[in-house]
Amino acid sequence: MTTTTRGNLFILSAPSGAGKSSLIKALLEKHQDIKVSVSHTTRAPRPGENNAEHYHFVSVEQFEALIEQGDFFEWAKVFDNYYGTSKAAIEEQLNSGIDVFLDIDWQGAQQVRKLVPEVKTIFILPPSQQELENRLNGRGQDSQEVIAARMAQAKSESSHYNEFDYVLINDDFDTTLGQLEHIVMAARMELKAQQTRYAALISDLLR
Ligand code: GDP
Ligand code: ADP
Ligand code: 5GP
Repeated sequence: MTTTTRGNLFILSAPSGAGKSSLIKALLEKHQDIKVSVSHTTRAPRPGENNAEHYHFVSVEQFEALIEQGDFFEWAKVFDNYYGTSKAAIEEQLNSGIDVFLDIDWQGAQQVRKLVPEVKTIFILPPSQQELENRLNGRGQDSQEVIAARMAQAKSESSHYNEFDYVLINDDFDTTLGQLEHIVMAARMELKAQQTRYAALISDLLR
């Protein structure tokens, strides 16, 4: 007999193009008990991006109204667009025992750490600057102007790597995915969670 525990909250941050979205997508495909929070953004959808699946795409006016209403758990301006995690996107999932990933930038990570000190934070670095540029180009979804702006930001974003609990170098995709899975599994076995999950067993063993 086990008792359901609250899910763990994870943050995945990285310079754009390092592989966050691909890693989270692959992780979710393998594990039904892990979900990603769908953020709100004011940026335009990329080809193939669907509303409510990749992001909730909203106007600047709508986003600012949501800020006013206090609907956001955290929000930040990244590359001149607003991005934010709504409270609704995570609370229900965590309460039902699902592990939730936030794909958010370092500014958002700083806000969440203050609100949820036990959050597990992971930073992804690319294997080289050249490879980061190759991936942004290879993704083929952003204009040359946008890619240049993101490359210019990569250094300042990467400089925040040392604020995170874990640092992964996304060279071989499957290796990085495996490392990510290990972090999730280890978190599930932390003392507090196991005490709740196995309360009956522990009390029986120690009787
Ligand atoms: P999105 O998933 O539509 O947001 O697009 P992404 O840009 O995140 O990923 C594009 C596709 O490439 C996805 O189907 C990923 O699973 C796949 N992919 C990402 N990285 C790798 C890799 O290292 N090797 C292989 N074989 N596929 C990858
Ligand atoms: P982010 O979400 O961090 O902006 P993406 O997940 O969109 O990055 O990845 C950027 C591009 O790099 C995508 O085309 C993806 O397929 C590719 N990619 C991700 N990880 C790897 C990897 N380990 N090796 C090669 N290509 C990768
Ligand atoms: P993209 O436009 O490539 O999808 O995302 C650009 C950047 O915004 C990435 O660094 C991503 O992690 C960040 N981001 C996406 N959603 C959120 C969010 O809800 N909050 C914050 N703070 N950053 C976000």
